[in-house]
Amino acid sequence: MPDKRPTSNLDGQIALVTGASRGIGEVIALRLAEAGASVAVSYHTGAEAAHRVVAKISEEHKEAIALGGDVSQEEDAKLLVSRVVDHWGRIDILVNNAGITRDKLLIRMSAEDWDEVLNINLRGAFLCTRYAIPHMVKQRHGRVVNTSSIVGLSGNPGQANYAASKAGLIGFTKATAREVASRNITVNAVAPGYITTSMVEHMPPDLQKSVLERIPMGRFGTPGDVAETVVFLCTEAAGYITGQAISIDGGLAV
Ligand code: NAP
Repeated sequence: MPDKRPTSNLDGQIALVTGASRGIGEVIALRLAEAGASVAVSYHTGAEAAHRVVAKISEEHKEAIALGGDVSQEEDAKLLVSRVVDHWGRIDILVNNAGITRDKLLIRMSAEDWDEVLNINLRGAFLCTRYAIPHMVKQRHGRVVNTSSIVGLSGNPGQANYAASKAGLIGFTKATAREVASRNITVNAVAPGYITTSMVEHMPPDLQKSVLERIPMGRFGTPGDVAETVVFLCTEAAGYITGQAISIDGGLAV
């Protein structure tokens, strides 16, 4: 029997992107909307920026709302998901993108530096997924994409907390993927290398130069490089891919 051709179109799909007020999350939100999805743009401190993202999406005649909250707080994460479902009646796509760094050598790293990064990067993804999955199970359809990092695969000096959170996200992705695969829900991770957002722009110039020399493609990645893969993982065309961590790093980890 010939395969029915799967679609790359996200018309009618409802997406929540955490940390979408700027950086990679903003571009993921814009690209999901371009592909046809209605998008909830989550922010923590950047309300104005999030409303600007919503305005950009609305200019393209697509639907979007801005939702504030701290993903590391259980009540906020629960409310983020329930506000999406109250507004649109369902949630098809969750992109756990919100993330922070608090870089320090291990001997100078405080327990607070550790907790803050783990709480936002890992606990936040757990909480949003925990509250989104029951809706996806009921719908018998869902896509979860977690934003890990090359640092979660290879480690990085000065980033023990961040590396642990991003490696943890990969384990979380694989375990959750196994749990929900039978319900037609896929769970994947992307592992970006060095992407031109405030995270990379704040690196000292000599460090930027030495990183650049190690990237086989000879350039930093763009938020669009990451967003294209995320959008693909959210489509029907990617419906048989689950539990994967896909590197988007210009060959850096090869
Ligand atoms: P960014 O420009 O610093 O943006 C971070 C986003 O996360 C912002 O929208 C911020 O919201 C949100 N956020 C922070 N704390 C939050 C919280 N407690 N609750 C909800 N939202 C929160 O970061 P980025 O460079 O785009 O990175 C996005 C993701 O990609 C992160 O998970 C990062 O670890 C990962 N990543 C980045 C790179 C890179 O090179 N840039 C590489 C690998 C992986 P507000 O501004 O509204 O507070």
